[in-house]
Amino acid sequence: MTDQDTAVADVNGLDWDYSPAPERTRPEIASTYGLFIDGVFQPAQDERTFVTTNPATGARLARVAQAGAADVDLAMQAAKNAARPWARLSGRQRGKYLFRLARRIQECARELAVLETMDGGKPIKESRDVDLPLVAAHFFYHAGWADKLEWAFQGRPVKPHGVCGQIIPWNFPLLMAAWKLAPALACGNTVVLKPAETTPLTALHLAQLLQEIDLPPGVVNIVTGDGETGAAVAAHPALSKLAFTGSTEVGKALMRQTASRDIPLTLELGGKSPHIIFADAAMEQAIEGVVNGIWFNQGHVCCAGSRLLVEESILEPFVAALRDRMAQLRVGDPLDKNTDIGAINSREQLERIRTLVRLGQEEGAILHDVQTGPLPGKGWWFPPCFFTGVQPSHVVAREEIFGPVLSVMSFRTPEEAIRRANSTPYGLAAGIWTDKGSKIFDMAQRLEAGVVWCNTYNQFDPASPFGGVKESGFGREGGLHGLRAYVRGVDR
Ligand code: NAP
Ligand code: MG
Repeated sequence: MTDQDTAVADVNGLDWDYSPAPERTRPEIASTYGLFIDGVFQPAQDERTFVTTNPATGARLARVAQAGAADVDLAMQAAKNAARPWARLSGRQRGKYLFRLARRIQECARELAVLETMDGGKPIKESRDVDLPLVAAHFFYHAGWADKLEWAFQGRPVKPHGVCGQIIPWNFPLLMAAWKLAPALACGNTVVLKPAETTPLTALHLAQLLQEIDLPPGVVNIVTGDGETGAAVAAHPALSKLAFTGSTEVGKALMRQTASRDIPLTLELGGKSPHIIFADAAMEQAIEGVVNGIWFNQGHVCCAGSRLLVEESILEPFVAALRDRMAQLRVGDPLDKNTDIGAINSREQLERIRTLVRLGQEEGAILHDVQTGPLPGKGWWFPPCFFTGVQPSHVVAREEIFGPVLSVMSFRTPEEAIRRANSTPYGLAAGIWTDKGSKIFDMAQRLEAGVVWCNTYNQFDPASPFGGVKESGFGREGGLHGLRAYVRGVDR
């Protein structure tokens, strides 16, 4: 056997593995963090705190101030006081702050990526190569809009709302902050941002960057805490606009709450997005797209392609190829650069995934557990898996699982594919995989989804609007459409 033959045998053999590739950058993490109000960090008035942990180890990372109603009130007042001077700055001046921030984010990108991974559990290769580049890109993009708003809304005066409340989830903590902050600031609004309880750290480090770039105090305020803190933001009388990303349940409650006060609202909610795979699709490419669509960020993605609709004639070979590809996914230390699937964000989230998977089995769907290796002993983990034999009525075909779990179903005709794809209360995203352009256009028009990706999945760009229909919410983030939400009179 030659050396080359041995290498090939090794690659194909079962005992072949990558060497560990640990990320060596370690961001400075303080032992305690205050609330960021009026340009300074301060403890909660009642001095309450909570702990944020690393879900991959269960270890405590830091104590963080828990904002109560009195702290939210301070933050809202600071934002209100800052609103007029900020809105009166020229667009060019506001753009300068945003450009400065975008550049500082690029300079600190590696530290922020590591922090995101430590606080939230996502693999470093995602936070480093997806989240952080997109965060910087969103600030750059909106910095460019700040002095061009009169061209964006031709013939209409551009007036900001004033104080915006922004409530974000834990799956893309810094990216969701960027999606919300950048357009609000570009259009001349001030903000009170409420990060998720399990992932507050990158937003607080962003606050440090806001201090460094000399953003005027009060323009951005960050109040950490739990759902109660979010509720206090939404209920505050100084609020002029509310933007929320999170669960459909909380989104509905916020809609009821703001409707009575006529507060403009944008909601980015849950999803149960389908992939439609036709027999003429490029199989390898589709498998990669499906893998990316569901296992990206452990499936903690609102637009995760979690329902797979495969044309019946290729169901068997497709499922076999999917199983082979999934078995290669590497689950483990999120700070290892070779890891594909990191830790589940929290114990509650893990319990929710386990419960839904158990229900799927009880209802008769067949679970394919393709990962055989042991999971790390500490922290919260769920191995990627998929179900076959799924009926449209099964819970795993209907409910958002928000974990690395896929439900595979089949279809015979494009009509049946559309019917199955649309039979959900959600409408966030969809993927179409086919060789025929005409089929793509026909299907894309009939799918009830805010975003339809064709022969690709999970592609994001600041210039491209993102958002849902039906119970996935309303309003768009990104692009010219995203700006509308932050300018008075053009948001509906
Ligand atoms: P969630 O419970 O709705 O939480 C989202 C945010 O709202 C968190 O900051 C949360 O604080 C806060 N919150 C909770 N209860 C509140 C209340 N009564 N009033 C005001 N704020 C409140 O959602 P999640 O389960 O953490 O996040 C996952 C969900 O977000 C999934 O359903 C996913 O599909 C969706 N999501 C959608 C998009 C999109 O763009 N469409 C993007 C990402 C995620 P705590 O964290 O402290 O509880
Ligand atoms: Mg955490």
